[in-house]
Amino acid sequence: MRAYRAKVVEPLRRPDPEERQAALEAAGYNVFGLDAEDVYVDLLTDSGTGAMSHDQWAALHRGDESYAGSRSFDRFRSAVADVMGFEQVVPTHQGRGAENVLFGALLEDGDVVPNNAHFDTTRAHVANQGADPVDCPLPVGLAPEADYSFKGNMNVDRLRSVVDEAGAERVPAIVLTVTNNSIAGQPVSVENVRRVAAVAEEADATFVIDACRFAENAAFVGAREEEFADAAVAEIAREQLSYADAITMSGKKDALTNVGGFVACRDEGLFERCKERAILYEGFPTYGGLAGRDLEAMAVGLREVVERRYVTDRLEGVAALGRRLVDAGVPVYQPFGGHAVYVDAGRFLPHLDTEAFPGQSLVCECYLEGAVRAVELGSFAFPDTDRPELVRLALPRRSYGLAHVEHVADTVAAVHERRDDVPGMDVISEPPTPELRHFQAELAPCEPMGRFGET
Ligand SMILES: *Cc1c(COP(=O)(O)O)cnc(C)c1O
Repeated sequence: MRAYRAKVVEPLRRPDPEERQAALEAAGYNVFGLDAEDVYVDLLTDSGTGAMSHDQWAALHRGDESYAGSRSFDRFRSAVADVMGFEQVVPTHQGRGAENVLFGALLEDGDVVPNNAHFDTTRAHVANQGADPVDCPLPVGLAPEADYSFKGNMNVDRLRSVVDEAGAERVPAIVLTVTNNSIAGQPVSVENVRRVAAVAEEADATFVIDACRFAENAAFVGAREEEFADAAVAEIAREQLSYADAITMSGKKDALTNVGGFVACRDEGLFERCKERAILYEGFPTYGGLAGRDLEAMAVGLREVVERRYVTDRLEGVAALGRRLVDAGVPVYQPFGGHAVYVDAGRFLPHLDTEAFPGQSLVCECYLEGAVRAVELGSFAFPDTDRPELVRLALPRRSYGLAHVEHVADTVAAVHERRDDVPGMDVISEPPTPELRHFQAELAPCEPMGRFGET
């Protein structure tokens, strides 16, 4: 069931095929270089791209812009306490600000930080403190076709061996990302949360949950984990976070806002250190680089995101896209994630090997075919790793309807029909930092890209 209707609308255009070809060429065959104006359905990311509710827009007007001790901060703090169970919170400009504040307070040179799988900014902030970010995914998480309810889980055996090898004193923090963005948006079970918490306790490490998509994760737990079959999403959301010593959060995901983030923790000493770092890098700890009105919007969004009707609609929207792709014979990662459907470009374009960047070819062809913007998360984005060649179609929250979903499915299906003629790509220039390659590199197709523009 669609859980809302439109009250404000934003006009869209679909550029014609010649315009798309020119725009993609001008962007160096890198869709990060496209003007949003030239995109019809923009599935680049679900980060900060959603629509706010009328209650959130109304709350903006209550924004108290006092530098210190604003009423907006109080309302924000209450929402974090009620919805997530943390009394001590420091707002930040977005999720990576929270990572910088927390990891700077926790980590030292030479430390090791295990995670079920680091999100890219999380990895960068751990490394920036001189620590070593180590992923501990389940093998099944890396297999796009394997059927398992919680493919995002931490591999607890691997976690234990990473801790043993490093020595517990070198592991000040263990991080669990829910849902697991880098593993196709797959959920983590509460049972897994408990097991990771137990390892953290033994190692005397701070157990951090990267809670960006905590509500989507809670909805999956309700649907798939026996113990929670009758529980409300809001209850599960609190239960899964209750084991954590600290959380980092991007408001741009499950606080349903266009900007913002926060770090919350239970330990008073850690809270004091976080506040100090917040003053240095973000802002005074009652605004953290945000306007009072942004705090109001997050406060309302956090309460909305754990309503069953919101989160059911959210997961149904993603599944509607996934099912259409499966019906068209497109190879996709299964089960579908919470925020996105991931197309398996390796199986989609088996004639292209890793060096030909099949995912990036698919992304470019989808733009040429239907002015749809997706993102590559395979060998182009992550050089020197052996991840599956995935292309992510991330759905912004509460923005697109079924007609858009159908257009996206038709576009990908049309490329699939002519898949044998899709050429590979070469990187022709890249930035000095390999981790930033997919944002800035320029590419060229090895042969002209195929028939396009019919969808
Ligand atoms: C988006 C995201 C972040 C970083 O948040 P930003 O608001 O983009 O800085 C961290 N972790 C995960 C899992 C994310 O999805």
